[in-house]
Amino acid sequence: MAKTSKPRNLTELRASVAAVRLKGPATSQTDRARKLLLVYLDAADSHAVPFAELVKSLRSGLPALRIAGAELARQASDPAGPFAGIDCAAGCAFCCILSGTDGGTITAAEAEQLHAALAPQRGKNTGAAWHPQACAALDPATRQCRAYDARPLICRSYISTDVTACAEIAEGTPAAGAGVVGAQGLALAVHALIRAALEGVSQVPTYALARITAGAMHGEDAATTLRAARQPPRALDDERRRFGA
Ligand code: SF4
Ligand code: SF4
Repeated sequence: MAKTSKPRNLTELRASVAAVRLKGPATSQTDRARKLLLVYLDAADSHAVPFAELVKSLRSGLPALRIAGAELARQASDPAGPFAGIDCAAGCAFCCILSGTDGGTITAAEAEQLHAALAPQRGKNTGAAWHPQACAALDPATRQCRAYDARPLICRSYISTDVTACAEIAEGTPAAGAGVVGAQGLALAVHALIRAALEGVSQVPTYALARITAGAMHGEDAATTLRAARQPPRALDDERRRFGA
C-alpha cells in the first residue's frame, strides 16, 4: 500500500487517498470507491469538519456505509436493477446460515449498532435452535432477524431470485441466483482505502459479524464482544477480493 506520509490535515488526507494503492490488482470498484471517497472528503471540507472528528468517523466505517448505502438505495429503486424479481421475504432465512467462522466482515459502527440492538434480547433462543450455523441474531421461531433495523450492510446486500439456490448455498453447494450486490464490495473498497490512507494515524478495524451477534445474545458486554470479534488486518483485503473490489 504505497503512500507518501502520515496525513496531518484534510488536504494531506485527500492527497493520501488519491495516491494510495491497495494490495492486489486495481479494479473498477476500487477506482469508483476512491472517487466517491474524495467527494465525501470534499463535502467534509466544505462543512469545516475538524480533522480529529473526521478521522474518528472514518475509523468507525460510517463514511463507507453512507457511500455504499446510497449505492444500495439506487440499486434497490432501479426497476431493471438486481432487486427486480427477488424471492426475498420475511421468515426466509437461508442467507442467515453463515459460512466460515466470521460470517462476514463489518465495520465498528455496524458492530456497535448491532450489539446495542441485540443486548436487550440476551438469553433468548438464538438461530442455532433452527440450524447449527445460523446467525445468533436469528429468531428460530419466526426466522426473522432480531436486529432487523440494525443489520449490517452485508445482510442488506444479500438477495436472491431463487430461494432454492439459497438453500443449496447454505448447505455448501454452489448455486446461481443468490449473492451480495455490489454495494458491499464498494463499502469494503472505501474502508480499505481509508485504512491505507490513515496508516500511522489511526487504526481502522473490522469485526466478525457472527462473533458480534453471539456475544450480544449470550449477554457479553459490548467492549468484550468487540475485542473478541476484531478481525486480523488481512480479513478486510480477503473479503474485498472475495467480492471483486
Ligand atoms: S437471500 Fe435467499 S434466503 Fe435470504 S431472504 Fe432472500 S430468498 Fe430468502
Ligand atoms: S444480523 Fe440478522 S440479517 Fe444478518 S445474518 Fe444475522 S440474523 Fe441474518
